[in-house]
Amino acid sequence: MTPTFQLREGPRDECGVFGVYAPESEVARLAYFALYALQHRGQESAGIATCDSGEIVAVRELGLVSQVFDETKLRALPGTMAIGHVRYSTTGSSAWQNAQPIHRSERHNIALAHNGNLINAVELHSELRERGVGFSSTSDSEIIAALISRHEADSVAEAIADIIPRLQGAFSTVVMSPEGVFAFRDGAGLRPLALGQLGERYCVASESCAFDIIGARLLREVQPGELVCLGERGIEVRQAVESERRAFCVFEHIYFARPDSKLEGRRAQVSRERMGEILWRESPVEGDLVISIPDSGNPAANGFAKASGIPQGDGLIKNRYVARTFIQPGQELRKHGLRMKFNPLPEVVGGKRIVVVDDSIVRGNTTRQIIGMLRDAGAAEVHLRISAPPIRHPCHYGIDMSTRQEMIAHGRTVTDVARELGADWLAYLSLEGLYEAIGSSRDTPCDACFTGEYPLQRTEDARGKYALEELAVVR
Ligand code: SF4
Repeated sequence: MTPTFQLREGPRDECGVFGVYAPESEVARLAYFALYALQHRGQESAGIATCDSGEIVAVRELGLVSQVFDETKLRALPGTMAIGHVRYSTTGSSAWQNAQPIHRSERHNIALAHNGNLINAVELHSELRERGVGFSSTSDSEIIAALISRHEADSVAEAIADIIPRLQGAFSTVVMSPEGVFAFRDGAGLRPLALGQLGERYCVASESCAFDIIGARLLREVQPGELVCLGERGIEVRQAVESERRAFCVFEHIYFARPDSKLEGRRAQVSRERMGEILWRESPVEGDLVISIPDSGNPAANGFAKASGIPQGDGLIKNRYVARTFIQPGQELRKHGLRMKFNPLPEVVGGKRIVVVDDSIVRGNTTRQIIGMLRDAGAAEVHLRISAPPIRHPCHYGIDMSTRQEMIAHGRTVTDVARELGADWLAYLSLEGLYEAIGSSRDTPCDACFTGEYPLQRTEDARGKYALEELAVVR
């Protein structure tokens, strides 16, 4: 296997899902474009399943949406409805077997696409194995598929409604059967899922940006604990589980969602600019130039520059064609490491007091290198402003972060972190400032990666990403 060099160290996007019931349309093409818009949520694999006269056909491969599908493959996916998935692995490795949609046809013939992470995956997996159930993947998503497919209920809707209370953790899920397309979300609503209208028909997607590209209109979010069925009768909705506490991932507002998506009624770009404005109000600094770490730092840098009146410029140029992992650069080139992705402009930053704005820091290796590059390019001072609070705790709800020990802010003061990174001054957005920016309060969202206060019981029991592989339970 070709060795690869891990490029990104920040929190990893999770997965993106899509589903549509539209007999009059080319549903595979709709799914393709929707997944194309959701590509930022997962670049390891992509897949589409369609249902035609009761038959489910699925195509899933490792790679980007544009690499996995071509005209021939899309034409081989006829149907009246479709679901799709882009994946970054949060449970299970990035092997082909873990690509989705998953297709199982025991009692019910279904395809399933899931975004999230089950914290009781090992328990459910053991129980199913004891009942003789076989698995072909090491992703927790296949557990949900097996529970539905084997269920004794007469309808898939009933099967789903019955199993939802058994699932613990984060799950924004789309299931397709000859009966229709079903979308459901965990009771806390950790991961996003939106409902859209396409002419007379309906669709669901992780983010509203997927609706814009196919000409659909955002209706509302699928509510936490809700099960929505899309079919010939339009949409049918039921509340499958009541939650004790809602806990939408606040990091979707900060970083994960595409800037043009709407989350809880707010455009992510607007919220992020507001985070930058509040960051300036909380931690002003004398500087000559505001620059962002592109692209994720751009909106907050806009807000910071606007509020401060400090000019904004492009101090770092990003190579937009660098994939997430790439071939090892080798000893000679390794020292240039990050320049494959970012290159500073000495003419822009030279002799200036630079204020660098980014959305978050996890391990800090990239940030440290960027600060070093800016100093090498002649920056007089480098001040760092982060539009999120310090990340000190891992996520167990579908986001791949580092372990606590690897997080630069874990067990360190902000001054210590600034010293570690080589910044003249570092300031983070406060939790209060973050909630002000998204027009919310601490009662509803999940902010456990900042506070360590996990909204779901038994979260700390959750096993890691490779839990099912470690148990060697796949047959
Ligand atoms: S722990 Fe952080 S990344 Fe995970 S769901 Fe909560 S807010 Fe989101």
